[in-house]
Amino acid sequence: MKQYWIATSVALLMVMAFGCGQPGAEQSVEQPRDWAIAIHGGAGHFGEEDLSPIQQAAYTASLSSALALGEELLAQGGTSVEAVEAVIRRMEDDSLFNAGRGAVFTAEGVQELDASIADGKTRNCGAVTGIRGFRHPISVARSVMDSSEHVFFSGHGAGEFAAAMGHEPASDAWFFTHKAHSRYLRAKRRAEAKDALAYKKGTVGCVALDRQGNLAAGTSTGGMTYKEHGRIGDSPIIGAGTWADNRTCAVSATGWGEYFIRTGVAQEIHGRMLHGDEKLAEACRGAIFDEMGALGGDGGVVAVDASGAISLVCNSAGMFRAWSSPDGRGVAMFGATVEGTVEVH
Ligand code: ASP
Repeated sequence: MKQYWIATSVALLMVMAFGCGQPGAEQSVEQPRDWAIAIHGGAGHFGEEDLSPIQQAAYTASLSSALALGEELLAQGGTSVEAVEAVIRRMEDDSLFNAGRGAVFTAEGVQELDASIADGKTRNCGAVTGIRGFRHPISVARSVMDSSEHVFFSGHGAGEFAAAMGHEPASDAWFFTHKAHSRYLRAKRRAEAKDALAYKKGTVGCVALDRQGNLAAGTSTGGMTYKEHGRIGDSPIIGAGTWADNRTCAVSATGWGEYFIRTGVAQEIHGRMLHGDEKLAEACRGAIFDEMGALGGDGGVVAVDASGAISLVCNSAGMFRAWSSPDGRGVAMFGATVEGTVEVH
């Protein structure tokens, strides 16, 4: 009975919306496109042996719940920009990841955060680097995109902009986690002993295609543990760590930022598709293995194209990642199914 009433109401609403039954009325119903989403929570040299079953379960749960938020928004017709921002906000609050709460510390013992967001429909974008004291750097980046004539703010100016836009402040205590701080203390001891640093990375990112056919991408990070004051990685740099263009793809990167900047990974993928006619997976592999990896860098990307194909590619041992479309969903952490490449079409 309930189903009958729902079906009747839906039919009635359609008649009201499209004017069915009126002679001469033009009717056009755009077939909703499939949506697609992929996220990452950082790449690195970790294998199954490096994470306890409890840690693996925690990462799986966190990735899965962030993904579910994006799935729900996109399935209900939300925009890709909305989904990207919402998913990244969730991950910024999750202390498991190196973004927002739980971000790594610089050599000076503070947390300087970077974020960027790009809209494939308008090819507008916004980014902040070295921002401190705001809970959601990704939302500040979105304000830069939506409400500023500029696309990139740094440090103090980024903070002033965030405050003027009414973004939620957060104290040092909010961002602090013992895990990130003890990593910092270990790195400090190594640096003082002049031992080689094993930079701890992380980063979160999200790419999405919405039912209107629009792509978006975003990335948010604390950068690399013990990074020098003022160091900027790839995550807030449009074309290196983040990219979206409806003609080709949306990309979010994670890994050793210097190498991603040197090879302009995100825009490299776009260029291979636009000018070289490569498919998404081929373009991601080329950028990660033949360009960034060939210089000695490591990390990966999550990407989605305008047809809803998803590609998750890394040359590191692990990358926290998850993906979904109406065809199904998945969560993975380790290894690479085929030579460092995981592809989902
Ligand atoms: N790419 C980030 C950076 O270099 C770190 C990461 O993705 O783990 O700042």
